[in-house]
Amino acid sequence: MCLLGKYQCVDFRHISWGDLLDGQMSPRHASCHTGTALAGEETMMTKATVEEVPELDLEALPERQESATAERAYRKRQLAVAFRLFARYGFDEGVAGHITARDPEFPNRFWVNPYAVHFSRIKVSDLLLLDENGKVVEGTRRSNKAAFSIHSTIHEAREDVVAVAHAHSIHGRAWSALSRPLDPIIQEACAFHNDHVLFDEYKGLVLERDEGVRIAARLGSKRAAILRHHGLLTVGRTVGEAAWWFITMDRACQMQLLAEAAGTPRLMTEEEATLAARQFGNANMARNNFQLMEELLIEQEPDVLD
Ligand SMILES: [Zn+2]
Repeated sequence: MCLLGKYQCVDFRHISWGDLLDGQMSPRHASCHTGTALAGEETMMTKATVEEVPELDLEALPERQESATAERAYRKRQLAVAFRLFARYGFDEGVAGHITARDPEFPNRFWVNPYAVHFSRIKVSDLLLLDENGKVVEGTRRSNKAAFSIHSTIHEAREDVVAVAHAHSIHGRAWSALSRPLDPIIQEACAFHNDHVLFDEYKGLVLERDEGVRIAARLGSKRAAILRHHGLLTVGRTVGEAAWWFITMDRACQMQLLAEAAGTPRLMTEEEATLAARQFGNANMARNNFQLMEELLIEQEPDVLD
């Protein structure tokens, strides 16, 4: 049995002894199964692992569903799941924070969480569809004005972006007070190496679209922004990507805060940081990482799909 194939996208907590014995194998790694007895597999597995781990597919586009209706359902499911994951990570802060997903049929519209519903309670049926003027065109609840001010400008400026995540996470906010971009000091943090910006202004709640326009302009073609005295913002070609980058970025802020509290962290060389950026900044990896948490969450909280 090929553990690499079977478990590459499965949460460790989900692996049971029965799974280890059931002889299932991943189609991706089927070629390393030739009927050899289990005792003989260790050598074969080692060889197969080395030979068959695919090159990181950096260029692959996210999978799309066959119809706009199916793609919309997929994006909404990921969106509702992402809010519940954000709640688990402690990224909720009262009514603050929003994640949006562009509608696949009407690209000027996007799906968003309703105002004043706790992230941990959001269901697919709670999501709102806003048009380009911020009007709710689907859904029964009210929207968050700041969500429209910030997210609509990014959806407008970045055709490549499907999802935008923004929340007032503890570590992201603490780091934002330092008014500095993140340094390449931890491999995962290199997902943002040369791929994030500091939005170095603060004018209170973002209730006007003007400020959203400036955030979008500062973000440019990058993956993420640190909003001074405010929080973090990430984007992705899927909701899963944007959500995973947000989780990774908040942790990168936490790790740099910890490292700098303990001493002077050693910076990676440009070569090291570039290598880590290719590996840990890979969007496919982000999508896989999100997927395993999505599966776990849906199993534990199936009402998220209601
Ligand atoms: Zn905010």
